[in-house]
This record gives sequence, structure tokens and C-alpha cells, in this order.
Amino acid sequence: MDHLAIVVRITRILLCTLLACLGASALPGAASAADWEAERLEMVETIENYRAHAGNILAAYGGFSPRVLEAMRIVERHKFVPDRMVPMAYDDMPLPIGFGQTISQPFIVALMTHLLEPEPDHTVLEIGTGSGYQAAVLSPLVKTVCTIEIITGLGEIAAKRLSQLGYDNVQTKIADGYFGWPECGPFDGIVVTAASDHVPPPLLEQLNPGGRMVIPVGGRFSIQHLTLIEKDKAGAVTTYQLLPVRFVPFTRGVR
Ligand code: SAH
Repeated sequence: MDHLAIVVRITRILLCTLLACLGASALPGAASAADWEAERLEMVETIENYRAHAGNILAAYGGFSPRVLEAMRIVERHKFVPDRMVPMAYDDMPLPIGFGQTISQPFIVALMTHLLEPEPDHTVLEIGTGSGYQAAVLSPLVKTVCTIEIITGLGEIAAKRLSQLGYDNVQTKIADGYFGWPECGPFDGIVVTAASDHVPPPLLEQLNPGGRMVIPVGGRFSIQHLTLIEKDKAGAVTTYQLLPVRFVPFTRGVR
């Protein structure tokens, strides 16, 4: 990013903070659809050029799949964040979405989606709907997305948003995702977007032979690793620790 871009971004963040202090919401009419599209293209360029932590992992997996990058180019992240976060929607960082939760960093969303190796005939499960953004990115890549959120308020907002935006192949549910969603599965891919200190056995059971699970494993205060689990055709499971990450905790009990 050049100096001008950094100055523009800092100015936007300051302006946004000021507006938030004044109780105003967002920057009315600040950006056109073309502006947002340009921001998305820049975001995807950042993701593609990301080499700091995951370059070797991406190399091992053949670089980002063009389908995944295309999904990142079309999903409107600015429609998944609270009004006061809209100006930062395409910055490559997590953002608060209320209820103490965050929408994940776009690079991590792209990486987790890529690692799932989504195919058009797949049914996938997401644990941790949050804003609904990860589900929206998966939506054009697979047949069905089933997504579970444990915080009622968040789950309701996300379900409404996904339906209003026309993500018709996404099914939502408010529940403790530890138990998966057998009626929606079995699943060719499972993505967990909150960190758990162990892999919930029901999720492993609901993963099809040949399926893949991507999950951050680690405690609230200990190091977490993005972990890829492959179940082969015979049902044998192999686990790969890929890179250190920081996710909000996997919690228990609907609230
Ligand atoms: N995928 C989201 C990221 C949300 S952050 C997005 O794209 O915006 C992780 C989410 O996981 C939080 O909303 C949190 O409430 C939820 N979560 C944590 N534990 C959970 C559980 N046991 N079942 C379902 N959701 C859970």
C-alpha cells in the first residue's frame, strides 16, 4: 500500500470514529457500487499477495483457487458489518460485529474456504455464523451451506441479512454447534470459525468420507492453530496443524 493510500485510510478511520462519537451512522452515500467493487479488487489483490505467514501453506496447496478468489471478489463485505465499520469493510482485518464477536479477516476467510476445496455438488457446515459473511462466500461455491450460531441476537440478524441478500442456498440455525446439524448433513466440508480446545466428535462423525474440516484448535489464552482434518474414503482421519491464528472462543450453551 503506498503512502497516499495509508493517509486516505487513516483519514477514513478518524472520520468514522468521529461520526460514531457524534452518534451518526456510517457515511451516507459515501461510496458507489463501483467504489466498493474497486475496494474489493484491492482486497483480493492483498489476499493473493499475502506471503507473511501462509506463503508456504498456500504454495503447498497450489495457491488460492480461482473460484475462491472470485467469490471473495463478488461478496459485498460492507453489507455484513455494522454501519460504523463500513468504511473499513475491505481492509484485511477482523472487525467487531457486536455481542463481543468479530467478522474474520478476509485473508483467513479466503484461506479457510480454499482449504475446504469446495465443489458445486457439496453440502458444507459452518459453525459460527457471526455476520453471515463466511456463509455468503461459500454460497456460490457449493450446493448447500448450513450455518449455526450460538448467540440468538447475532444469528437472527445474520439469517435476515442472508435471506434479504438472496443467499437462498444458505440454511441458518440458532443452536450450540458442538452437536453439528445431522438433518442438514452429512457434510463434504465443515468450517468452524471459533477456537475450540478440541475437535467436537459429533462434527467428525457428520463429515463424509473424503470430506475436509477446517477448525482453529486451541484455548482462549493459549496458542491456537488453524487445523485441517481430512477424512479419507475409508474413514481414516489425518490432522495437519497449519498456522497460528487468533479466533474468538468456541462457547457452549445458546444465549
Ligand atoms: N464466520 C463469522 C465469524 C464469526 S466469529 C463471520 O463470517 O462473520 C465466530 C462466531 O462463532 C461468533 O459469532 C460466536 O458467537 C460463534 N460461536 C462460538 N461458539 C459457538 C458454538 N458452540 N456454536 C455456534 N456458534 C458458535
